[in-house]
This record gives sequence, structure tokens and C-alpha cells, in this order.
Amino acid sequence: MIEFGYSRAVDAADAIRRAEGGARYLGGGTNLVDLMRQDVEGPTALVDVSGLSRSITETADGGLLIGAATRNTAVAEHSAVRTRYPMLTRAIVAGASGQIRNMATVGGNLLQRTRCPYFYDTDGARCNKRSPGEGCDAVEGINRDHAILGASPSCVATHPSDMCVALAALDAVVHLRSSAGERTVALCDLHRLPGDRPDVETVLERGELITAVELPAPGFAARSTYRKVRDRASYAFALVSVAAALDLDGDAITGVRLALGGVAPKPWRAWRAEEMLRGGGATVENFARAADAELAEARPLAGNAFKVGLARRTIVAVLRQLTEGART
Ligand code: SF4
Repeated sequence: MIEFGYSRAVDAADAIRRAEGGARYLGGGTNLVDLMRQDVEGPTALVDVSGLSRSITETADGGLLIGAATRNTAVAEHSAVRTRYPMLTRAIVAGASGQIRNMATVGGNLLQRTRCPYFYDTDGARCNKRSPGEGCDAVEGINRDHAILGASPSCVATHPSDMCVALAALDAVVHLRSSAGERTVALCDLHRLPGDRPDVETVLERGELITAVELPAPGFAARSTYRKVRDRASYAFALVSVAAALDLDGDAITGVRLALGGVAPKPWRAWRAEEMLRGGGATVENFARAADAELAEARPLAGNAFKVGLARRTIVAVLRQLTEGART
């Protein structure tokens, strides 16, 4: 049995004070508690922040501010999210079972850890993320689900969140607070690539608390979607996912957002593809060229070369769907 302390924070300042000795923040517990049960993580103390802000409020510039303790279900079902940011609702609903969505919080979703099976195998598997410097059994092992973009020889794990892929495409901003004050970080900059320190997954400082996620306007309600390709229709992580939004003027692309999941150690904003698409024609040929440009840096492993073609086809199919939707 693992012994650990538990306390419940009454507000953000109280949570930060309680975490000063190195305690971990506990949201819905849908990932951290599993990691503790499986002996992957062993925090000496937990500060429960699941009772902090669960509000979803309008911002002055027409966006939404979502409290970090808001449950995933509440976000997905909120009328403003459904009508103005439908790709976010789609991503959350694709993300987990209803029971897990009812418990999981927005802040916790951002910080959930990889589902690489070697990371969870504490009976002999080598994992640099769990035990820095130990080695990585996935590189030469079973790596069908692993990364093709942004990985390193130290770690080839993927980030598991669906919600984060939509947030990356929506240019979401993460609000943080610590004893040093408050700051914001773009969602696209929150997660780190592994390099030689795969155990350091985000740019969060020690004790820093996620207090909210801000969605800027516009939400691309008219032409946006999230598509997840996976082995089963439910309760499975993405092999490839695509969050996409298009603005069109006739057949010309005036605005585009594209982010990928299931292919990289962080939610992968497809900046290169966006650059190629912007200002061009909304044609299948251009979609394919943009996908190829984004995937030119792909470095597939022995077991996951199929992901390159799958990502290419999914990008093209989603952009085509959004274009045809605009013409009908
Ligand atoms: Fe660990 Fe990353 Fe290697 Fe998986 S891919 S075993 S998480 S170091």
C-alpha cells in the first residue's frame, strides 16, 4: 500500500499554498489515480482541486473562459461550446467513455500522460519517461501506436488527449497561477517535445496550477470538425486524429486551422500545411500537397509506417468534407 496525504483546496491560492511541499494537484483522478494504482507515480501528497472553478463565462472579446475544474461532459454539452466551437464538443465526445468524461476535468485532460504500454509496465520495461536515463523499450519494441512526428531516440510516445488537439486548432490559451503570480501560455506551447528529457512534459513550473482555458473568438462554427481514426468505435485512443477548420471565399482558402492527434508527443499543430493552404484553392490536389509537406518530417518506426498514409488520407478527407459542406 502507498501512503500519501490528501487535502482539499478551497480556492486557487489555497491550492498553491498546499502544494508548496511538492504535492500533486488532483482533478478528476481519471489518469493520476490509475498511475498511482499501477505504481507508475507515487506522490507523497495530493491537493484536490476538483472543487475549484467550474464556470464557463464569456470573455470581453467574444471568446469563452472555461474553469480548469469544469468536467469534460459539462464543456462538451455547454450550449456556447456546441454552437460556437463544435469541433471541441466532437473531440471531447470522441475522447472517452461517458463515465470518464463525467469525472475528468479540463485541467487534468491537459496534463494526462501517455498511454505507451511500456510506461505502465513497471515489471521490467525500460522507460525514460518513468525512469530518466533507463532507455526506451518502445523504440525497438511494439510501437504501432507511437509517434511519427516530433519524437526523439529517448521517447516515441504520443500524447493521448483528443480535447487538446481541438484546443490546439482553436488557438486556446491556458491560464496559470503560482506563488510568483499569473501568466498565460498558448496551448500549442504548453507541451514539450521529448528531446533528451521525456520526463519533462510541459512548460509548467513546479507548483504552477492551471486555472482556466480560454477559447478566443471565432470558433469556426460554420466549417470545422474533428475526426478520430481508431481501432474500435469507442474507448480507444487515436491512431490519427484531425481537427480542422476552413474559411473560404468562393474556392479560395482565406483561413485554415489544422491540428493532428495520435501522431506526436504533443498535440500537433500543422503549421506547414496551414501555410501551404492559406490563399490557395480548396482542391484535393492542394490538400494532398499540404498534407505531404506536413508529413515530410515524419520518421515512422518499424510498426507504425501506416500512420503516414493514414494521416495523409485523413487530412485530405476532412478538408474535402469541410469544402463540400461549404458548397452545399
Ligand atoms: Fe517510455 Fe516514451 Fe519509451 Fe514509451 S516511448 S517506453 S513512454 S520513453
